Amino acid sequence: MSLGVLDLFSIGIGPSSSHTVGPMRAAVRFVDELAEAGLLERVDTVRVGLFGSLGATGIGHGSDSAVLAGLSGKEPETLDPVSMGPLVAEIRETGSLRLGGRTDVPFDVASDLTLHLRESLPGHPNGMRISAEAAGELIEREYYSVGGGFVVTADELAAEKDAAEAIDAAGDEAGSGGDGPGAGGRDGDVIPFSTADELLEQCRIRGLSIAELMTVNERTRQTDETLRARLLEIWSVMAECVHNGCTREETTLPGGLKVRRRAPELKAKLETAGYRASGSLDALEWVNLYALAVNEENASGGRIVTAPTNGAAGIIPAVLHYMDRFVTGDEGAGSDGADAGASEDGAGASAGASAADDAVVKFLLTAGAIGILFKRNASISGAEVGCQGEVGSACAMAAAGLCAVLGGTPEQVENAAEIGLEHNLGLTCDPVGGLVQVPCIERNAIASVKAINAARLAMHGDGSHRVSLDQAIETMRQTGADMKSKYKETSRGGLAVNVVEC
Ligand code: SF4
Repeated sequence: MSLGVLDLFSIGIGPSSSHTVGPMRAAVRFVDELAEAGLLERVDTVRVGLFGSLGATGIGHGSDSAVLAGLSGKEPETLDPVSMGPLVAEIRETGSLRLGGRTDVPFDVASDLTLHLRESLPGHPNGMRISAEAAGELIEREYYSVGGGFVVTADELAAEKDAAEAIDAAGDEAGSGGDGPGAGGRDGDVIPFSTADELLEQCRIRGLSIAELMTVNERTRQTDETLRARLLEIWSVMAECVHNGCTREETTLPGGLKVRRRAPELKAKLETAGYRASGSLDALEWVNLYALAVNEENASGGRIVTAPTNGAAGIIPAVLHYMDRFVTGDEGAGSDGADAGASEDGAGASAGASAADDAVVKFLLTAGAIGILFKRNASISGAEVGCQGEVGSACAMAAAGLCAVLGGTPEQVENAAEIGLEHNLGLTCDPVGGLVQVPCIERNAIASVKAINAARLAMHGDGSHRVSLDQAIETMRQTGADMKSKYKETSRGGLAVNVVEC
C-alpha cells in the first residue's frame, strides 16, 4: 500500500482539505519546482486558475487565500492561521507577492488569480493551473486536489490508477492462495491489502488485529516509537482544536452567513447543568459539543487535523473525546469494559504507557486502515462523490476505531465501519454560500453520534452481517459517479440554492 495512516491524519488549516490545504500544497509544490530549476529569482509573472469545484466554491473555501499563502512559501502544517489574513491583505493592497518567501513579483489578485466558475480540467473536479514566466520561459503545471489534502499532477493521477490496478492484480493472486501467509509476512514488510475482505483475511491468517497489522505496515516508514509519538501529536492537536472551539469569544463565523458559534455556549451550559443533568443521553450532548467545536474552528480557518478531510474533521475527534471520557476514562470505568483491552496492542505500546494513550493509538490505526480502503477504492472528496465520501468515510473510520477500542474483533470492526457508511450513502454536498458551515458543522455532530451507535451495534453482533464494507464502498463509488455535479461541492443544488444567503 502506498498510503500510510498519517496520510489520513495530517495537521493543516481550515476550512477544507481539498479546497484550502490542497491548493496551498499545490502552490508550494510549484514554487519548489521553480527553486529546484534555479528559476525562482528570475520569475517575472505568475498566474493561477482554479477550475471545477475549486472555481465554483473557491471563495467560500478560502482557496484563493490558500494559493496566495502557498505561493508565498507558507505550508499548511506550519502556517499560523492568524497570520493568513494579514498576509493576503498585504498582497491585495501592494499588488505584489514574495514568491517562496524570496522573490518579489507583481501579482494583481483580480487579474492574475482566476476562478473559472463553469470550466473544469479533465482529470478531477478540483483542478488548478499555475504558470510562471521566468527568464523568457513559460512554465505551466496542472494539479488536482483529490481530497484529504492530497495533490497530484495529471501524470501522477494516471500512475495512481495504474498502481491501483497492479495492486488489484497482486491481491487476486494472493487471494488465490498462491502466496499464503508468507507474502509480506515478516516484520518490516508491508502486508498487502486493497479491500476490506483482504484486510480481514490477512488479520485472520496472521492472528493480528487491524491496529497491529497497520503497525507492521508502518514499520517501513518509521519506528514504532515515532509512529506512536506522531499519532499522539495528532490527538493532541485534535484536543487543542476542541479547546479552542469551546473558548472563542467571537460569536459568529466568518463568511457572511452569520452562522453562530454554538460550542462555547453549549460547553458552559453542560458544565453548569452537570453532564448527568439531562438523563441517559448525557454523553451525546458532549459528543455534539466536541464536533461543533472542531467544525466551528475549521469554518473559521483554524488549526485542524484533516481526518480524513476538513469538512468532516469533527467526527473522529468527537468520537475520540467520547472514548477518552466515557469509555476509557473515569466516566466510562466499568460501563463498557473496554479499558482493559485497550492497552494490548497498537504501535510501540510499553508497560509504562498509559492505557488512554494506547487506546488513542489503537483507534487511529484502525480508523486509518478503513480510511485507506475509502481512498483506495472510492474517494474521500466531496467534489468527486458528494458528502458521503467525506462525512460517510469519517463516520465509518470513527465507528471502526471505537469498535476496536471496545474490544471488537476485526470482523466486528469491519461491521461497524460498514454500518457507519451504509447510513450515509447518497449524502450530497451542497454547502450554502460555498462555506463549510451549513450543513457541514451540524452534520459532523450527527455523524459522530451515528458512528458511536454503529460501533455499539456491531459489538452486539459476532461480526457476521449481510452487507460487506467492500460492497458499501463500491456502492458509494457508483452513487457518487451517478450524482449530478450540482450536488458535488459546487453549491449549485440542494440546500445551497434553497437557503437564502443574507
Ligand atoms: S456538505 Fe459535506 S462534503 Fe460538502 S463541504 Fe460540507 S462536509 Fe464537506
